[in-house]
Amino acid sequence: MVKTLTRAAQSAIAWSLLGISAASASVEIVYTEPTSKQEQQAKQAIIDSEVNLLLVELSEQYFPFKTPLTVSYGGEDGPLYDPANHTMMMPYHFYSEALDYFTKNDYQEKYDRAPELGAIDTILHTLLHEAGHAYIEDQSIPVLGKEEDAVDNFAVVMMLEYVEDGDNAAISAADMFAFESQDRPDYYAVDEYIDEHSFDLQRYFSTLCLIYGSDPEKHSNLLDEIGKESLADRKDFCISHYQTINSNWHTYLKNHSKTYF
Ligand SMILES: [Zn+2]
Repeated sequence: MVKTLTRAAQSAIAWSLLGISAASASVEIVYTEPTSKQEQQAKQAIIDSEVNLLLVELSEQYFPFKTPLTVSYGGEDGPLYDPANHTMMMPYHFYSEALDYFTKNDYQEKYDRAPELGAIDTILHTLLHEAGHAYIEDQSIPVLGKEEDAVDNFAVVMMLEYVEDGDNAAISAADMFAFESQDRPDYYAVDEYIDEHSFDLQRYFSTLCLIYGSDPEKHSNLLDEIGKESLADRKDFCISHYQTINSNWHTYLKNHSKTYF
């Protein structure tokens, strides 16, 4: 035992001499200097939430990268994944904007979840969405259909299968799409129909569909805003759809039989 500890201590020293952190094997988190008080607050909220530790742990357990992924917080661009340098860009203002949406929509009063938590739920979903793009690139996973939809599915499957309270976090992420969609016109410009993303309201319903399908009893009322004529059909579809999506993503994941908690 002592020998092991000594060896561990020695290797920790060796790592630090090389300037490499042993903890950053698969995902490395980088914080650029905040440029305003609001950015500083966002950075602190993100650190305090431990959402990055969760991302790193999930990656190590289920989607380890061949080439380490860098997650870079700060700046103006993003959220996005840049395959050119295998880096995810996550601006601090994305957290602040999400917090604004959850606050102005009275999330605590109407949905019984703190706006701060809703914003972190959205960050987690987005980190996993972008990590999904990175994983597809890293593992050369074939994409048949819209990659944006595929990585939305990846994010929700990871949350539902391996994150404690992940279903409620995924519901918050879905609600964020609904909030964003309230600011949008009823009809989109022609160019927007060819965008690689589905529309926010589609992403909202797709997320709810997966959540419902993962546990129809627990979430029996989740799809109730859908008209009665199609509700039964949609419920059946969502159950089989979740099974398909969950099992297909697991073809490409490590340790699929283990659960996170
Ligand atoms: Zn994307």
